[in-house]
Amino acid sequence: MQALDSRLDLDGFFRNLGHARERVLLLDYDGTLAPFHRRPEHAFPYPRVAEILKEAIAGCATRVVIVSGRRLADLRGPLARIPHDEVWASHGWERFTALGEHVAYELRGAAKRQLQLAEAPARRLAIHGARIERKVASVAVHWRGMHAPAAELVRERLAVAWQGLGNDELDLLEFDGGMELRARGRDKGHAVRDILAGCAPDAVCAYLGDDHTDEDAFAAMKGRGLSVLVRGELRRTGADLWLAPPEELIEFLERWCASGAVR
Ligand SMILES: [Mg+2]
Repeated sequence: MQALDSRLDLDGFFRNLGHARERVLLLDYDGTLAPFHRRPEHAFPYPRVAEILKEAIAGCATRVVIVSGRRLADLRGPLARIPHDEVWASHGWERFTALGEHVAYELRGAAKRQLQLAEAPARRLAIHGARIERKVASVAVHWRGMHAPAAELVRERLAVAWQGLGNDELDLLEFDGGMELRARGRDKGHAVRDILAGCAPDAVCAYLGDDHTDEDAFAAMKGRGLSVLVRGELRRTGADLWLAPPEELIEFLERWCASGAVR
């Protein structure tokens, strides 16, 4: 566990948590609560995570919000295993509220058409072993877990196929083990700002994430709560704190429960 911002007072954060009227834990899933798996349906949470989150909700009045890049439809497995109150999916383009309401934000027509154009050449890379994922507002090509020469081939062909598609409507983004062409307009930062807008100004909040796409969320947490990079190796990040999973993740979540326990 390493503070990345010299002004971070972690003991003070947990003291405040103990006195807070409102506690909110915002959590990415893949790579954060569960080790990355090449087949997402096999990405199971680290041991003890589900148990501790259950305790966070029931024992210390925490609102647990999952903020994932996956489509809501692809989160069924994780959501069945992870106690939670609310879900934001597809990088902030879909929301499943605590009342069971499904909200989907509408893409502009031009973005929709360009994503359709981008999908066909991406699909052709599947023969080299890449995994293609079509989400509400993006097309992602995954090569993590592939042998290096095959991954490099996919990366090169994709760069050619998607040349010029990063524009006013779409952003071309690299993430750990792949590349994504994503409609502009919403990201995890928008999801976090929307969640925080519904919280009391003095609510004690933390966001935990592992990937480059979580940086938007870290930025949105500035001045409102703690941002935590959960990752085996440290990288350049805007997060306040770095945890190496699973031990330090479990330690952090246990400390959250101990500090916020309803007495
Ligand atoms: Mg992740």
